[in-house]
Amino acid sequence: MSTRRLVILGKQGAGKGTQCELLVERYGIAHISTGDMLRAAVAAGTELGRQAKAVMDAGDLVSDELILGIVAERLTEPDTAAGFLLDGFPRTEAQADGLFALLAPNTVDRAIDLDVPDEVVTQRMLERGRADDTPEAISRRLELYEAETAPLRKLFADQGVLVSVDGLGTPAEVHGRIVAAIETAP
Ligand code: AMP
Repeated sequence: MSTRRLVILGKQGAGKGTQCELLVERYGIAHISTGDMLRAAVAAGTELGRQAKAVMDAGDLVSDELILGIVAERLTEPDTAAGFLLDGFPRTEAQADGLFALLAPNTVDRAIDLDVPDEVVTQRMLERGRADDTPEAISRRLELYEAETAPLRKLFADQGVLVSVDGLGTPAEVHGRIVAAIETAP
């Protein structure tokens, strides 16, 4: 497999950020984090940033239309030709459908579901203390994850690309599990 088109699924605080850094370095693929793109837009004070800021502060989801627009544009950039890692996207069924339409007739090679219990991620989030990490926003995001994003596992499983990885342990241990899951048949 030379091109690697990857998706990482997991709650906030599951360790996606750390694992994404290790994966993009290992495979030389583009890291596409919709959360990072939105935060950059907020910091730059663009129209997109203005639209997204209040929604992000409340822990709610930015509209599918807006997100699909920025991802579609990002996927046309040349650094994605060797592969990419989608982080924080898709988060809803509409976004997953939009992604499949963008990639057709291909699909992703693996969707990695990074599994960590709610109690552990909540504790990690409170320690991280990002501006949008209030207890209310944290529990809102966990609720939304269960309602909107967890069901996407089935869509990826139906395509035969879902792998579930235990997210507890050191970053190196978890990375080793993810690499094994990517490099063996799902
Ligand atoms: P993240 O860094 O992935 O946790 O994203 C931070 C915030 O940005 C989220 O709580 C959402 O408000 C928004 N966001 C990021 N990615 C998406 C997405 N794919 N769909 C909707 N909202 C998103």
